[in-house]
Amino acid sequence: MGKSFENSYDIDLEDIRLSEYPMTDTTYLDHAGTTLYSKSLIEAFATEMTSNLLGNPHSASSAAQLSSRRVDDVRLRMLHFFNADPEHFDLVFVANATAGMKLVMDAFREQEQGFWYGYHKDAHTSLHGKNTYSLLDAAALVSTCPLDLGNAALAPDYTVLSFYKIFGFPDLGALIVRKAAAEPLLKRSYFGGGTVDMVTVGQGGWHIKKQGHLHQQLEDGTLPIHNIMALDSALQVHKRLYKSLRCVASHTMALAEEVYQQLSSFRHFNGTHVCEIYKDPASSYADSTTQGPIISFNFRNSSGHFVSNAEVEKLATIRNIQIRTGGLCNPGGIASSLELTSQDFRRNFSAGVRCGQGGLIIGGKPTGVIRVSLGAMSNLEDITTFVDFVREFFVEARPKEPPAADVNGSIGSFYVESLTIYPIKSCGGWRAPSDSEWDIKQEGLAWDREWCLVHQGTRKALSQKTYPKMALLRPSIDLKPNLLRIHYAAFLPGLPDEISVSLTPDSKISNNADLTTSEMEAEVCGQEVPMNTYQSETIARFFSTILGTPCTLARFRQPQSCPSGRHSKAHLAPISTSPVPRPILLSNESPMLVITRSSVNRLNEQIKSADGKAAHASVFRANIVLAEDRPGLDPGFEQPYVEDAWEYLRIGKASRKVTLDVLGGCRRCQMVCIDQTTGEKDGEPFITLAKTRRNKGQVFFGVHTALAKGGDDEANARVKVGDRVVPIKTVRLDDRLV
Ligand SMILES: *Cc1c(COP(=O)(O)O)cnc(C)c1O
Repeated sequence: MGKSFENSYDIDLEDIRLSEYPMTDTTYLDHAGTTLYSKSLIEAFATEMTSNLLGNPHSASSAAQLSSRRVDDVRLRMLHFFNADPEHFDLVFVANATAGMKLVMDAFREQEQGFWYGYHKDAHTSLHGKNTYSLLDAAALVSTCPLDLGNAALAPDYTVLSFYKIFGFPDLGALIVRKAAAEPLLKRSYFGGGTVDMVTVGQGGWHIKKQGHLHQQLEDGTLPIHNIMALDSALQVHKRLYKSLRCVASHTMALAEEVYQQLSSFRHFNGTHVCEIYKDPASSYADSTTQGPIISFNFRNSSGHFVSNAEVEKLATIRNIQIRTGGLCNPGGIASSLELTSQDFRRNFSAGVRCGQGGLIIGGKPTGVIRVSLGAMSNLEDITTFVDFVREFFVEARPKEPPAADVNGSIGSFYVESLTIYPIKSCGGWRAPSDSEWDIKQEGLAWDREWCLVHQGTRKALSQKTYPKMALLRPSIDLKPNLLRIHYAAFLPGLPDEISVSLTPDSKISNNADLTTSEMEAEVCGQEVPMNTYQSETIARFFSTILGTPCTLARFRQPQSCPSGRHSKAHLAPISTSPVPRPILLSNESPMLVITRSSVNRLNEQIKSADGKAAHASVFRANIVLAEDRPGLDPGFEQPYVEDAWEYLRIGKASRKVTLDVLGGCRRCQMVCIDQTTGEKDGEPFITLAKTRRNKGQVFFGVHTALAKGGDDEANARVKVGDRVVPIKTVRLDDRLV
């Protein structure tokens, strides 16, 4: 079977992949987003740039004349590429397909008699804006399929496309105009440099528009000449590598047919379908006139529930597979495929769904789809990798085992094995000294996530998920000199290996002017939060150099200066206080995260039995690690995951007793794959978690807790390593997890 794909091309695809795409050690299946540019293209372009001097075509120098001449040549070659006769068509260079549509729309908006606009409901977001003119959005089509404008009488009046979707580079688009339909475009009142013959300014100013070619009248300002030169290289290299778009079409369709067949054949153990594929019943992957090499679908579990796109995306990232999920810039297509009404869209918007992100399941319906799209250089290995990935994570070969924990049996007691503070959100943890009684407040352990790092441009709090090196930034609390010290656990020349700031919130007492702070709002997990940022150049340089992004340290503002926030941890999403049984928390933050040693052990047994690399408990970034308090306990008799059924915890002895409410399971993402000592990523433990701890499309490990409100101990709560812990359970396990 494998051979037939390569033969459909009559080229040595493996050789091309090795030599032309050295940057891909990944399974790339998002060609409809953009395809990949070849090494030859970039080299041909570099040679072009270094061997020619190209001037601004608006000048009269010889360099300028060279640019004009070359642009004319490329324009003609591109018309020929689409079999468009220059007698009947002109090609206008624009930034991208969207800019092409906007040019047409703007011109039509100025028509005296107005205009009526009808669009296909299954169209790209960019299209949703009396004579009848037709506009074809060919951006997706031409990426893998030839566009033939050979019959001028039947051709669309206006055709828009983006070249990066065909060649991967350059970022440039075109509006191809049928000359017979040029008139409405010429009436626009806007003009820019390059489109006029004469302009006068001041009182009674006037201008004369250029008369020559249509493109001369529509290309405002200086043409993107270097991009146009690159387009020439792109065209030549594409021809050499893949011969024609017709060849690309048959190759990609053969692969798409295979993906479609495989996905539609998957069944769970009970015979139910794994993939719900969105496809017009009248179209066929065997026929490229009805269908392109794009497959859109969602997964269902064996009970028929949808798996969230976010979950699929996380696992794909771990397996180094690049796909697209969400609304795909195609509101109409999504609406009809997912049977979403405009009311559903409104509700989804209120629930936080936005263009460019999806992943939620609302009212039992997914809010987006998963899309696999193929390109000229896709091969059988790409699709096999993807199909194996689906089989591994989404096909349930047998029913789930019942919960392992003996919920009704004795729970026994635990003790506090360790306490970890994370003074700076998403940076390294710091172990509280085992001989000290540590304060617990409503917002968590004292000094926990009191600071964060913010991007200086966007003011967004940085996360270890995006900047794994944050794990190497190791804060510590030094109470004697009253300092937060931040140590960098690697070496960078010219950087101090440690900086420090005062633990006292009011920075004005600092006698170092550098450490003053200024108030601002920062964005933490999508919410605006009042902060004080440090003004020091040294502090900003320390973090920016280490992380390679302009950022600095900020501190959550204290309650007195923050009337809206209940406490300084306004960045923590509101905690549900509903009566038992509590819902599983949606937030990934809570005052205190608790895990048990027994659960870590169980997980590691499972990882090791699959030859994976065991996880260190630190990857779960818990505040409190509990261990079972039964001397000489055989590991076989541990109670992994009993915490799922806990309702609250009593910690300490009579003189110093603390009650923690258990709020729900902690939702996990691939951040648990970052080794907290090296900052490096691995697939585990997320892969095994996803296979053993997934419930309703979410992966859980550990529990969120908070100091119980109104308890005697609330004002003076403290906890110490070694403290005895008695868990109390009431909820039924099936209300919670597994
Ligand atoms: C990609 C795409 C667009 C938008 O292209 P831009 O380059 O972002 O302007 C429009 N329509 C379709 C069908 C597309 O695939």
